[in-house]
Amino acid sequence: MKYVSTRGHAASQGFTDILLEGLAPDGGLMVPEQWPRLTRPKLDAMRDLPYPRLAFEVLRFFADDFPGGELKSLVDRTYTAQAFGTPEITPLHTLEPNLHLLRLSNGPTLAFKDVAMQLLGNLFEAVLERQGRRLNVLGATSGDTGGAAEHALRGKARVNVFMLSPNGRMSPFQRAQMYSLQDANVFNVAIEGAFDDCQDVVKAVNLDAGFKMRHAVGAVNSINWARVVAQVVYYFKGYFAATRSNDEQVSFAVPSGNFGNVFAGYVAKRMGLPVRRLVLATNENDVLDEFFRTGRYRPRKTSEVHATSSPSMDISKASNFERFIWDAVDQDGDKVAWLWRQVDEEGGFDLSTDRAWEKIEEDSGFASGRSTHADRIATIRLVNEKYGVLIDPHTADGVKIGLRLREGRYPTICLETALPAKFDETIVEALGRHAPRPPGFEGIEDRPQRFDVMRPDPEAVKRYIEERARD
Ligand SMILES: *Cc1c(COP(=O)(O)O)cnc(C)c1O
Repeated sequence: MKYVSTRGHAASQGFTDILLEGLAPDGGLMVPEQWPRLTRPKLDAMRDLPYPRLAFEVLRFFADDFPGGELKSLVDRTYTAQAFGTPEITPLHTLEPNLHLLRLSNGPTLAFKDVAMQLLGNLFEAVLERQGRRLNVLGATSGDTGGAAEHALRGKARVNVFMLSPNGRMSPFQRAQMYSLQDANVFNVAIEGAFDDCQDVVKAVNLDAGFKMRHAVGAVNSINWARVVAQVVYYFKGYFAATRSNDEQVSFAVPSGNFGNVFAGYVAKRMGLPVRRLVLATNENDVLDEFFRTGRYRPRKTSEVHATSSPSMDISKASNFERFIWDAVDQDGDKVAWLWRQVDEEGGFDLSTDRAWEKIEEDSGFASGRSTHADRIATIRLVNEKYGVLIDPHTADGVKIGLRLREGRYPTICLETALPAKFDETIVEALGRHAPRPPGFEGIEDRPQRFDVMRPDPEAVKRYIEERARD
């Protein structure tokens, strides 16, 4: 499997080469040269596999330059009942006939990002070991991603993690999940400012190419291809769990922000999984919903992003969206480059009169909707009253839109992207009581915390990294 850039002007590379990289040299994102297609016998053979074997079968298409035995043992080590609470890893919970919840949030940080990040940590370790390299991961987080990354990379021999977070602006639970880690390779930097200030510092550090090279600065952000591939696996898992035969079709409802999760569903569909609809749910930050309804893509300025009660979906531009557009314009890199020039120069583009739009409307499977704070509260209540199940505000966005666009004949699988314990304030607002804490998370706010407070000053952060980097 070779990977090419969405903008068409970068040399093709293998999976291992792109594993540690961010953007392609031409500014695009790396994508597979063609989608692997599953034959019917292959799909039938996958139906009853346990999660780690299923993961191996999906991953080997994309990571074919990884020695098979190594990939297999790495996947076995990643997807354990110990890390994910159950041997099923992502169990399906049936709410009523043809309506299900796919539970993705039983990993170490109680959000679906663990499913991909835990694998990424082990992939990084294997490749760095093989190549005798070290890596200093630098990231900015508003909560979920940073926690998942730190829990995936903690204690890894060849990696340090420097995670910038907005001082005093995360929930006490999220703060505890990150700051209570005592591993010597994890560095929490609480920036005096907002999330955007953290991100600006990361950008500024990355612009210093010399510094980046000298200290092998890397990232684990949502454009990382291995993260997308790891997420493809649970679409298969959910499909098999909700159906009896591979003749059936299902729809997925996906709470979306950076378009990584739902894009993985699109990849599964392109591989031949019988997916009927990919129902994309946004919160009040509805750039993606607007696109799938109108064909117009208008990313917001960061100053126009609403702070909502499903905060992990508060994004201004969806970083993985370019991968989908590349596929929609028949993998024409020059056209993608032209469209993103319009994003830079005119603030967006309009595909509604383009040939690609017909294809998106007819074949892509996407449908979309937007949910609000009131919808989240009402949906948390509804699901609790009707099914006795507690869902978090992000999952509620997905369930809300999943129900609105549901076609009764087909199973709808709503992806659960976090546990309610992470967003207790909203649960209290909806139900007048606290979300239960899973075992092992009681009182984590009281554990000793380890972090350094800094001003949003790239030079100071560089010195901080320099003094602690693995070189
Ligand atoms: C990251 C996140 C999302 C959004 O997922 P994308 O892959 O960015 O679309 C939704 N819900 C939760 C809880 C998240 O952490």
